[in-house]
Amino acid sequence: MENCIFCKIIRGEIPGTFVHEDKQAVIFLDINQAAKGHLLIASRVHVEQWHELDEDNASHLARLAAQWAPAVLDATKADGYNLLQNNGPAAGQEVPHVHLHLIPRWTRDGYFGGVPDRMAQPDELRETAMAISEAKSTQ
Ligand code: 5GP
Ligand code: ZN
Repeated sequence: MENCIFCKIIRGEIPGTFVHEDKQAVIFLDINQAAKGHLLIASRVHVEQWHELDEDNASHLARLAAQWAPAVLDATKADGYNLLQNNGPAAGQEVPHVHLHLIPRWTRDGYFGGVPDRMAQPDELRETAMAISEAKSTQ
């Protein structure tokens, strides 16, 4: 897509620090290193959100995350990592070109507060599961 910043990086029109490129996807360092070693795994195809990817491209991104996580752990001596994938501005997506974040974590690094606790009652869980299942059955 013409004006997409990740498409421009993929096309080589603006610089990117790549660790991997293949037919379907690229991996480059996030310019804002949430943690040293923070990678972005992006599809070559320009779609905005995860569910717009075809299954093969979605699988490929997930495969790359699994393949590259051990190297990130090795190189950064991290104790763990987060895979993050934001869809839509409400979820914190800033760049509307689908990508996975692979972010190294260290014990007690205190980087993220995480999602809020909201313990639900069994009735609410059942109701929610039913609503989602019904929506799925009509798609
Ligand atoms: P999102 O919030 O969309 O999930 O994540 C977008 C990420 O892209 C952010 O972490 C941001 O730092 C990164 N980013 C934005 N512009 C550039 C850029 O020009 N180059 C690189 N390498 N990363 C970028
Ligand atoms: Zn794009």
